[in-house]
Amino acid sequence: MTEVRIPLHQLRSRPLTVPEGAAVQDALQRPLRDLRISVTDRCNFRCTYCMPKSVFGPGHRFLPQADLLSFEEITRTARAFVGLGVRKLRITGGEPLLRRELPTLVRQLAGLRTPEGLPLDLTLTTNGTLLRQHAAALAEAGLQRVSVSLDAMDDAVFRRMNDMDVGVAEVLEGIAAAQQAGLGPIKVNAVVQRGVNEQELLPLARHFRHRGIVLRFIEFMDVGASNGWRLDDVVPSAVLRERLHAAHPLHALDPSEPGETAERWAYDDGAGEVGFISSVSQAFCGQCNRARLSTDGRLFTCLFGHQGLDLRRWLRDGQTDDATLRAHIAGHWAQRSDRYSALRLADTPEAEWLRATQRVEMSYIGG
Ligand code: SAM
Ligand code: SF4
Ligand code: SF4
Repeated sequence: MTEVRIPLHQLRSRPLTVPEGAAVQDALQRPLRDLRISVTDRCNFRCTYCMPKSVFGPGHRFLPQADLLSFEEITRTARAFVGLGVRKLRITGGEPLLRRELPTLVRQLAGLRTPEGLPLDLTLTTNGTLLRQHAAALAEAGLQRVSVSLDAMDDAVFRRMNDMDVGVAEVLEGIAAAQQAGLGPIKVNAVVQRGVNEQELLPLARHFRHRGIVLRFIEFMDVGASNGWRLDDVVPSAVLRERLHAAHPLHALDPSEPGETAERWAYDDGAGEVGFISSVSQAFCGQCNRARLSTDGRLFTCLFGHQGLDLRRWLRDGQTDDATLRAHIAGHWAQRSDRYSALRLADTPEAEWLRATQRVEMSYIGG
């Protein structure tokens, strides 16, 4: 029998004292630049690829209120990350707009500064249904941009995918409200699943062309343990891009920043930009500079993590100072060797172990 060596375990990390403002690198020399903060594990959708009703039904136990990090705890943690190199904060979930008083958190995060005294890039990912209500207050509180998820223009397809009978119009109204509030440039993300919504490629592209909105197609991923993922369900970005190019010719653009997940393309006729996120067919682990903070204060260094480092115990013990909190995060990042997507299909014992290990759900750590 092959001996399966378990990869370096996350929870073996030791605190690493670094001066504030010194960028930390992981075991594969990747810096820490981007922090995604999940503010709730709840959602008003039950997207079949993310929170299927069979798992997230009426009997599902979401986190109790007391387990959630408070806004002050989130902001303190974010400040520690900024001291280690983070320059981009993304608020996510679950559906982040379900968290009460969210503009208060936005205001606190918008007040953070880099060691050079600059504001951070502050964005939010949402399914868009509550944007009509909240866009103006979020912008006023200092949110810069939003990404909105929309998987189809066809109402019946979209209702089936969100499984809560929410129509496309509601999301489009949310996008319009965000545009009006100045939360742009807006990105719209569409997860593509073979046999479910791949026929929505052109309707989505045609709707968002000429509107100053960047549409991005995301390959369906095997996140969590609930969505019944099969490789056959993935339509590779290259296939989608060829189909789009045949109808609306495209040319490639340079990445706008290191570690960017989307390949950027532009329409030859000047209708704007479109992106492809090839998380399965072309893993981008080599450049991955993203950390994730779960709703209850665990630090995950990979979307496909199975265990996070509990930061909440230090936030709540009444004795851990900011430098020590930073040292715990730095030590954890320094030993990071995650590269799940690069290993996903590999025929090695490590890849086999990773595939077999229970992963946390995306609604809990945030997309
Ligand atoms: N509820 C918000 C939303 O839908 O935008 C924020 C959280 S959601 C987990 C973040 C992003 O993850 C969404 O764009 C969603 O489409 C994407 N996502 C969820 N499950 C996915 C999967 N299995 N494969 C690829 N993307 C997925
Ligand atoms: Fe909710 Fe977003 Fe997951 Fe859909 S993708 S179930 S909207 S968290
Ligand atoms: Fe980053 Fe993990 Fe995704 Fe690779 S699989 S890009 S390491 S989050």
